[in-house]
Amino acid sequence: MNHLMGWMSLGLVLAMTATSAAQPQSKRDPAGGKKEFRVTWLGHAAFEVVSAGGTRLLIDPFLTKNPATPEAFRDLARYKVDAILVSHSHSDHSGDAVDIAKASGAPVIGTFDYVSGLGLPEKQVMGGNVGGTFAVGDVKVHLVPAMHSSDPGGRPLGFVVTFADGRTLYHTGDTWIFGDMALIQEVFHPSVILLNVGGGPYTEDPKTAALAIRKYFNPETIVPMHFATFPGLATEAEVRAAFREDRRLQVLKPGETKTF
Ligand SMILES: [Zn+2]
Repeated sequence: MNHLMGWMSLGLVLAMTATSAAQPQSKRDPAGGKKEFRVTWLGHAAFEVVSAGGTRLLIDPFLTKNPATPEAFRDLARYKVDAILVSHSHSDHSGDAVDIAKASGAPVIGTFDYVSGLGLPEKQVMGGNVGGTFAVGDVKVHLVPAMHSSDPGGRPLGFVVTFADGRTLYHTGDTWIFGDMALIQEVFHPSVILLNVGGGPYTEDPKTAALAIRKYFNPETIVPMHFATFPGLATEAEVRAAFREDRRLQVLKPGETKTF
């Protein structure tokens, strides 16, 4: 029954999003045809991503209790987004997702097991699983594996966002290096990687994250995240040291926006 309801709600969501799903996807064309997208780091694993077509995604919105989030970005009323992506249930990722969803009416994208337990209206439940895709405005959101845990809520995810010009952004979620990163590269060719580097007791440290990039990926830009938020996580100096020969590393300040 659960599965049947899951498929029914997925069908509804797909039907709803298909109409707004947008512009035909052009072939990847690094020499031209780029349509700029903006990425704002909100501290820890939280980002706001705005596509060229104006689609706004909020990823892992841990904000009001996030010591790294600038005060101005803790006002949840500012987030008028098209979808909220939550990689897994832990509070340093799911944080303010439900409050923002209730205030804004935006749907939450995550595992079916996690999202269906949030008590949101059915139209805001965009639950899926690894391999799944949701169309949101002019972007597509793909659910990919991460090597971590999520309880309650099934399993952890990473997200790959595909833009209308064919470029892609990969938010790794919380993870250690894992061999299937090679498949994420093969399938999606991430242009920008929002890379977990925090180390400590929970996730891959900067050196292992740098190894993951060398071994599996070929992005244009690497934006480190999930560091320096709390004692015990890697510092910015440690992150820079691990990537010292990699000019693709762009360390943002919380609240800073980069255009790609
Ligand atoms: Zn985390």
